[in-house]
Amino acid sequence: MATPAELARLVDLHLSDLRDPEPNWTIGPSPMAGRGVFATRDIQQGEIIFRERPLVLGPTARKGSILNTCVCCHKLLAVKDFLCKNNCTLPVCDKCSNSEQHRSECQLFQQWKPKDLQINAGNNNNSNNSHASNGNKDGDDCCPVNTMSLRILTAVRVFFLHPDQIALVEAMQANDDKGYRGEIIKAAQCFRNFPTTDKPFMDRLFRVVGVLNTNAFEAPCRMGDHEILLRGLFPLTAVMNHECTPNASHYFDNGRLAVVRAARFIPQGGEVTTTYTKILWSNLTRCIFLKMTKNFMCDCVRCNDNTENGTYLSALFCRAQGCKGIVIPVQTKTLQPDWRCTTCESVFPHSKMARYQDFALNTINNRINKGSVAEMITFINDMCPRFCPSSNYVLVEAKLNVIWRMSRPTTEEFNEDHLKCKERYKEEIVALLEKLGAGDCTLKKLITEEIL
Ligand SMILES: [Zn+2]
Ligand SMILES: [Zn+2]
Ligand SMILES: [Zn+2]
Ligand SMILES: [Zn+2]
Repeated sequence: MATPAELARLVDLHLSDLRDPEPNWTIGPSPMAGRGVFATRDIQQGEIIFRERPLVLGPTARKGSILNTCVCCHKLLAVKDFLCKNNCTLPVCDKCSNSEQHRSECQLFQQWKPKDLQINAGNNNNSNNSHASNGNKDGDDCCPVNTMSLRILTAVRVFFLHPDQIALVEAMQANDDKGYRGEIIKAAQCFRNFPTTDKPFMDRLFRVVGVLNTNAFEAPCRMGDHEILLRGLFPLTAVMNHECTPNASHYFDNGRLAVVRAARFIPQGGEVTTTYTKILWSNLTRCIFLKMTKNFMCDCVRCNDNTENGTYLSALFCRAQGCKGIVIPVQTKTLQPDWRCTTCESVFPHSKMARYQDFALNTINNRINKGSVAEMITFINDMCPRFCPSSNYVLVEAKLNVIWRMSRPTTEEFNEDHLKCKERYKEEIVALLEKLGAGDCTLKKLITEEIL
C-alpha cells in the first residue's frame, strides 16, 4: 500500500487548481484505520477544508435507477431507442455518442462484443446468457440495458485515466470481498469477447472494482426536472475515516464537486472525520451497517454510550406487563446486546427486541411514500405513539421523510396544521442533532436552510 506521503502527492496532483496553496489539512497515518486526514492548524466550525472533483464518475446502475440516462452528460433520454449509435449498447445521447469523452469506452465495449439482449430474450437454448440471469429482469420489456455492464463502466473508465490518476486509484484501500468477483463475472457475461483469460487485466479490474466498492460515493445530480444518483470516486473525501458524529460534513454539488467543511471546531492535529452511515440511525443500526458493508466495529464516543447522548434513538417500549417504560441495549459495540427497561429494569434478549424493532420498522416504512403527506402525518402523530417511542430512529426518519416531501415541488396542498407539524418535526430533529453534538452537519443545513 502507498505511504501517506505518496498518497498525499497523488492527491495534490488530482486536486490540481482546487488545491489550496496552504491547505489546513494533511494526510497521515491514523490511529482509527490506515490513513486519515488531519488538521494542520485549528479549523473553525463552518470553514471549508477542501473541495475536489471526482476522479471518475459513472452510473450507479442500481435496481430502480433510471437507465435511459446518458452515461456521459446524464441527460434524460427517450424511453425507446436510446442506445449509442455506434452499438456499444450503452445509453448515450446523440451528441455524446461521438464525443472525445465517450470514444475510448465506446470502442472497448464494441471490441468486447456486447450480447444483443433483444435477441437473447427469445433464445432459451443458452439460458446462462439470457439477460434475466444478468440481473435485469425488471427492465426486459422496455429497456435493453444490462445493469451489470452499465455498472462495470465506472471501473472501465479508470483504465483511460492519466497514469498519475491510475496510480491514485491503485494507492487507495480496497476491502476484500468475494462479491466483487461476482460483479465482474456478471458483467463479463454481457459480452462475447470479454478478456476473461487475460489474467493481468482481470487482476487489475478486480482491484479497481474493489476500490470503487470500498470508496465511491453516490452523489445526487439534478438535470432539469430529474434527479439521478451518480457513482463518483472522490479520493480525498474517501480517505477521511468514520466517526458516528463526525466533525466534518460533506455534500456533492450536482455530482461534480465534493465540498467538505468543518461541522465543529477541529483543533490542530485533530483527525478530520466523516460518517459512513446516517447520522440519525441508532447505535445498533449503525453497528450492523458498518460491520456488513465496511467490516469494522466503530469505537467512537457515541458508540460507547447506550443512551446515545440522551437521544435514545434505539428505545423501544418495555414488554413487561403494565410497565410503560422504555428499553435500551445494555451493552454497546455488539450486534446482539441484551435490552433493559430504564423504569422496571426487566431484561429482554436481543432476539425478542429485534423482532419488535423490525415490526416497528416495517409498519412505519410500509406507510412512507404510500398515500398523501397528510395521511403520513396523521399516522405519525396518532398511530405510531401506540407502538413506538417518539425517540426511536425509525419514527425520527419518518418525520424527516415528511419534511422532504413537503419541501419538494408537489401538487398536494397543506393546511395550517400540516405546516405546523413540519416545523415541529424540524425543531425536534435539530434538537436531536444538537444533543448528538453534530454541529453544522449536512442534515442540519438541509433542514434549516432547505437546500434540497
Ligand atoms: Zn449525453
Ligand atoms: Zn458508444
Ligand atoms: Zn461510532
Ligand atoms: Zn419496564
